[in-house]
Amino acid sequence: MANNASSQPPLTGQDPLAAMAHSEAHYFNSYNHHGIHEEMLKDEVRTRSYRDAIYQNRHLFKDKIVLDVGCGTGILSMFAVRAGAKHVVGVDMSTIIDKAKEIVEVNGMTSQITLIQGKMEEVKLPFDKVDIIVSEWMGYFLLYESMLDTVLYARDRYLNKDGLIFPDTATIHMAGIEDGDYKEEKIGCELWDNVWGFDYSPLKHTALSEPLVDTVDMKAVVTDPATVIKFDLYTVTADDLAFSMPFQLQARRNDFVHALIAWFDIEFAACHKPIKFSTGPHTKYTHWKQTVFYIPTVLTVTDGEYISGVLETKPNTKNRRDLDIKVTYKLETDDITRNAEGQAEYKMC
Ligand code: SAH
Repeated sequence: MANNASSQPPLTGQDPLAAMAHSEAHYFNSYNHHGIHEEMLKDEVRTRSYRDAIYQNRHLFKDKIVLDVGCGTGILSMFAVRAGAKHVVGVDMSTIIDKAKEIVEVNGMTSQITLIQGKMEEVKLPFDKVDIIVSEWMGYFLLYESMLDTVLYARDRYLNKDGLIFPDTATIHMAGIEDGDYKEEKIGCELWDNVWGFDYSPLKHTALSEPLVDTVDMKAVVTDPATVIKFDLYTVTADDLAFSMPFQLQARRNDFVHALIAWFDIEFAACHKPIKFSTGPHTKYTHWKQTVFYIPTVLTVTDGEYISGVLETKPNTKNRRDLDIKVTYKLETDDITRNAEGQAEYKMC
């Protein structure tokens, strides 16, 4: 998925149901435009991983009924047909599905792919059960946009016992980074203390409270990565997507830590030879980049020391597509002058 942190127009009126419907409409409308799909199709790491996972496993796809959850332009549905699927059903809420229909037709696959416009949770499928679910549901920080809920719904409602999910494993990792220059530029004290002669300090808090989706240079990473949480798509439930998990980051050099970053890895473990890709700073660019959480304190770490903390994430109660994230961190060393702890709350919306 490729949705940018949204910039929807403000709502007048405070009816929570209207607000929810508005945000849903905004979310799906954003997928109507072909530009967002172009970005995803051009994401080499993403699209090639799905292609390889499907093409290299013809023995799994041959003669199977496949459900493509959020099919967009139909790319995964067409991969599945090329891998020998008997029939593929693609479901998408947005109007991009009209383009998918044309694309499927010019590729001569109309009789093997049924495309349905609608919300996965509401449409009626031509099959009661399917053998395989394919879906590209991942948002920034993995969970932004909460589309995983939709895949879990499809799994529970349609997947055959012993059916397969592509991909089936997702893992969130974190690390600490040195980012003094950029932090100063972005949320630096001086910047907001005097804006055209006015005190703009209230914006300091806002700048800090939104995580930044950006590419992080591997050279900025000061700690070893740590795995925070792993989701097995066969067993995870929607409730598990609100979690509080401890982490420990070991410093790999003497440096400062200005921010913690998070990224995710994806695995297609059902493959004959497992296929994985990572969206971390150590590997090739993907449109998911990394997610940067600036922390209110600058930590001064020495090689080998640990920053311990807790990452807490839950869908926002008013708009479940937004995420409320809380990071707690602590540096405890033999040198009491460097010991520090703190916490920060962020909202991804
Ligand atoms: N599978 C395509 C598109 C992935 S983007 C590809 O790999 O290129 C995710 C798509 O899921 C978007 O087009 C969005 O409109 C759709 N989507 C998200 N939630 C949905 C839901 N609940 N029901 C139907 N479609 C949904």
